[in-house]
Amino acid sequence: MTAQIIDGRAVAAALRENVAARASALPYRPGLAVVLVGDDPASRVYVRNKDKAALQVGLHARTIALPADTTEAALLALIKNLNDDPQTDGILVQLPLPAHIRSDIVLRAIDPAKDVDGFHPDNVAALALGEPGLVPCTPRGILRLLEHAQIPLRGAKALVIGRSNIVGKPVAALLVAQNATVTIAHSATRDLAGECRRAEIVIAAVGRAEMVRGDWIAPGATLIDVGINRTDAGTLVGDIAYAEALPIAGAITPVPGGVGPMTIACLLENTLTAAIARRH
Ligand code: NAD
Repeated sequence: MTAQIIDGRAVAAALRENVAARASALPYRPGLAVVLVGDDPASRVYVRNKDKAALQVGLHARTIALPADTTEAALLALIKNLNDDPQTDGILVQLPLPAHIRSDIVLRAIDPAKDVDGFHPDNVAALALGEPGLVPCTPRGILRLLEHAQIPLRGAKALVIGRSNIVGKPVAALLVAQNATVTIAHSATRDLAGECRRAEIVIAAVGRAEMVRGDWIAPGATLIDVGINRTDAGTLVGDIAYAEALPIAGAITPVPGGVGPMTIACLLENTLTAAIARRH
């Protein structure tokens, strides 16, 4: 048996179409502002993709690119302007920021109602408390993929590898909210292979090429690979050894074409959600 391949590109395309249809029915164009500080090449690519995707679904998108020596005070002043701007529904500050700017201070300055990345402490608290709020995009995308693949979550043993604020912790909270039994593994976990073998669902969000080996995987397990790693040969691979996992797993996301496309689609959805919540 080979695993069902969960096609993130197709699921993301359907979600983008849904966002486009709902946006076109509104009497205004939801607005997304993406703030980029400095000239990190990877960040530039991400920001360009976000901008393009937003325009394609009929959102109003603008990128505000600031030089690397922008002061924290200047960035906070810009965020205040965007918070006050009635046409701006979503604000995203591309991370990482240059070292002289404190990310936590900047993320706290964003109006939680416009925080489409879901990183403001108010939105983090809402997720932990099970209250409505804006949910981080990658974790939200992962839950949508599990839903699409019809993976039962209630009572399922899920292992999240990685405890970042961007992926690991919020995806664990979302899984708990769906009644999964969740273990979070991280760099200090003993016997990661054993934890994996006991899991029915594995979410790998570490950033280490093909760390999860085939013999770590329980037959029939669902594998969601968040990792994006570039090999010496220049190809992209995930955190899971895909070829080894394929004959053992029940379902698996490829890299690329799995979780990645969902992140941007969920950002567009969050912008629409934020616009509707704020303007109605
Ligand atoms: P991070 O570096 O913030 O966190 C990595 C986590 O992995 C840490 O919590 C650490 O404790 C854990 N870890 C490190 N070594 C480990 C080990 N040997 N065993 C178990 N756990 C270990 O990374 P992140 O921002 O959460 O991103 C993780 C990966 O996901 C990266 O490859 C990143 O590029 C990718 N990513 C993809 C998307 C997407 O849209 N597909 C979005 C965000 C991140």
